[in-house]
Amino acid sequence: ANSIFGALDTTIFETMSRMAAEAGAINLGQGFPEGLEPEEVVEAAIAALRSGPHQYPPMAGLPALRQAVAENARRFLGLSVDWEKEVLVTSGATEALADAFFGLLEPGDEVIVFEPAYDSYQPIIRRAGAVPVPVRVAPPDWGLPFERLEAAITPKTRAFILNTPWNPIGRILREEELRFLADLMLKHDLVAICDEVYEHLVFDGRQHRTLFALPEVRDRVVRIGSAGKTFSVTGWKVGYITACEALLKPIMRAHQFVTFTTPPALQAAVAFGLNLPDAYFGGLRAELEGRRDLLVGGLRAAGLAVEDVEATYFAIAATGEAEPDDVAFCRAMTFEAGVTAVPLSAFYGKGDMRSHIRFCFAKREETLRGAVERIAAWR
Ligand code: PMP
Ligand code: GLN
Repeated sequence: ANSIFGALDTTIFETMSRMAAEAGAINLGQGFPEGLEPEEVVEAAIAALRSGPHQYPPMAGLPALRQAVAENARRFLGLSVDWEKEVLVTSGATEALADAFFGLLEPGDEVIVFEPAYDSYQPIIRRAGAVPVPVRVAPPDWGLPFERLEAAITPKTRAFILNTPWNPIGRILREEELRFLADLMLKHDLVAICDEVYEHLVFDGRQHRTLFALPEVRDRVVRIGSAGKTFSVTGWKVGYITACEALLKPIMRAHQFVTFTTPPALQAAVAFGLNLPDAYFGGLRAELEGRRDLLVGGLRAAGLAVEDVEATYFAIAATGEAEPDDVAFCRAMTFEAGVTAVPLSAFYGKGDMRSHIRFCFAKREETLRGAVERIAAWR
């Protein structure tokens, strides 16, 4: 086995989904939504499949989608982006991340990874020959640790990877955190790879903020989005990168040898979706807010210590003293209560932070109610 890709044969998400299936449990582990696919976007994909074309689209993506990515960023974040030179379509954010690491990192470069971190970052950084340097955030506030962060920077540090809104902790970065990061980028000549796949899933009137909006670092930021999250179609694997031309060029060189391109019908449908009126995006937020309240409220009533959730699909809870180990907790909850979550240790390179578990609340109401009832009866 190739140890660069980690100790597990499959990702934690696959592992937990299989465990849920084996136990007949309600699966709140893997992060995917239920019943939220916008019909008009699905219809747009069907129409595009009927009409074609079916051959390789342009390597950088369909012009209509690149324009829509730029326009959506203008509408919601006030960004000014040149769609012809600064947008690249990828087969999911996962490919976008790999392209960015392969395109921008040299062997021996160090990359700061804020933990808990999405599980694909560290293996691909290593496979690119670079060295992930974890910097952890911790309860109770899960804020960026400014001093430890600056102490982790060496002459070899080339970049950091930042996920806001943040899977799994459901938090968005604050203005002062972004300003601190921008200062560090200028002081130490760093690039930021910003995984913003949950940019539209931000609740209670909060505003997603991106480093890309800060003019002094705009040309040092690689911004990544995903239709999977914005249109609740995680199986489609349509992602996009926005970055200045100088950063995008080497990323595009990686892209042409990783996937080269992405199915054209799905690109056309995502272009249509990104151009939907504000009401679509507001409706998605409101629907997810309600689902969050249902799960978080229910779990709290059942006695779990659940953190506040500002954004994303996810709520995390402390395991507590009776069963302090997250992996054992998830296994017991799957087989005894019939509800599956994900152990947070999977989001740490060393796997040693074992005090929390993650629930996905992007599910139908009846699914969430069923899960809450089972957990309440179990505890
Ligand atoms: N980054 C984060 C933080 C994610 O949670 C996910 C998937 N849920 C991805 C990237 C991958 O996105 P995609 O499915 O578009 O590859
Ligand atoms: N991103 C999803 C999550 O965090 C899962 C993606 C996957 O299964 N690889 O749960």
